[in-house]
Amino acid sequence: MKATLFSNGHVWDGISDSRYEAELLVQGDRIAAVSRRAGEFSGLDARRIDARGATLIPGLVDAHGHLSFPRVTYAYEIEDTPPEESILITLHNARIMLDAGFTGVIGAGSPKLRTELVIRNEINAGRIPGPRLLASTSTLTATGGLNDTAQLHQGRDVAAMVVDGPAEIRRAIRTCYREGVDVVKLNISGDDFFPRPGGRITTLADDEVQEAGRTARELGLLLSAHARSAESIKRALRAGVTLINHADFADEEALDMLEAAKDRIFVAPTIGYYHALKHDSRLGREALDRMGVDAAMDANVKVHSDLRRRGVRAVIGGYYGLPWQPNGSNARDIAHFVTYLGYSPLQALRAATVHGATLMQLGAGTLEAGRLADLLLIEGDPTTDPNATADVRRLLAVMKGGVFHKAPEPGATLIAKAA
Ligand SMILES: [Zn+2]
Repeated sequence: MKATLFSNGHVWDGISDSRYEAELLVQGDRIAAVSRRAGEFSGLDARRIDARGATLIPGLVDAHGHLSFPRVTYAYEIEDTPPEESILITLHNARIMLDAGFTGVIGAGSPKLRTELVIRNEINAGRIPGPRLLASTSTLTATGGLNDTAQLHQGRDVAAMVVDGPAEIRRAIRTCYREGVDVVKLNISGDDFFPRPGGRITTLADDEVQEAGRTARELGLLLSAHARSAESIKRALRAGVTLINHADFADEEALDMLEAAKDRIFVAPTIGYYHALKHDSRLGREALDRMGVDAAMDANVKVHSDLRRRGVRAVIGGYYGLPWQPNGSNARDIAHFVTYLGYSPLQALRAATVHGATLMQLGAGTLEAGRLADLLLIEGDPTTDPNATADVRRLLAVMKGGVFHKAPEPGATLIAKAA
């Protein structure tokens, strides 16, 4: 495969505190060199990309992906989607995510167990376009927990694996492992947006969470938890969970525990969910009040601003797949981190790229020699403009593993000029 050389542009490597002028050389599926000396590769036989006016950044990672959501408003729409449609929806969303610059996605619960993992296999085999995907279990929840939507008079399946007791949770994780998942998703707390259990209610018992932690660790699976209540966060941390989602109602003790674990954990604020509910959903004041959205969002903002100051690493994503925040618009989280959580644009970009890739442990996430060439070419300067990365018109190129999913148009005129 011919080498690719990006020249005349800027590079933000994911490590530095600003972008700089540099050339970047890709050979095979890896970054071969990043050089600040212009013309260093002048004699090289390479496909040359004129990156003038644009910036190379690492590919985006959504750490709370719902690729199988059929733009769902109500939980029953997930349950009522047959497996065949579910697979096609996931297939289409995988392409949509890569189109939007997401070279990595961590599943946050596959309503039908095998959907995400068969799509992951097809992507890895190169037969369909999509991000690197860590395929999730169905959410593991207790009877009466979040996603256990069963009704006594109906015999239908729910979009979760309902488990009670350490033996059942161990069996469920082993079953998912056998089928080929990468990530275990636990619902340890409820959620305010269902009648019950609310977000302050903790539903998985300590011995169940402990057993999930032990089993996942022994099988080498990543552990991700839905944890809104303070107690659910503590149970997750004690059991060795790596990715804590939401964390809205963390108390002082939970915040201290999160900080103490900051070298091994990541948090997903999922702030975009609240923003979209309030501004894009057309749900109306009455419904939002009934769901307690304002109070939950205030708590979320307070907790994640605090965790930012404490140096706990955050990742982007969360419930993209709803009609008012469809898959593909996930990079809006970068601006939300700046607007609501006090991040600088560069810190938010780091959360959207480096942190997610570090969590995935796939050897991508920074633009350095030897790393996988998962990168984006974005018009302008996304390190200072938090809206740049979410604007697909400014996404000039998407490269995954050294291969262009979206190549810059020849003589790439920037949209500022074209408009
Ligand atoms: Zn959740």
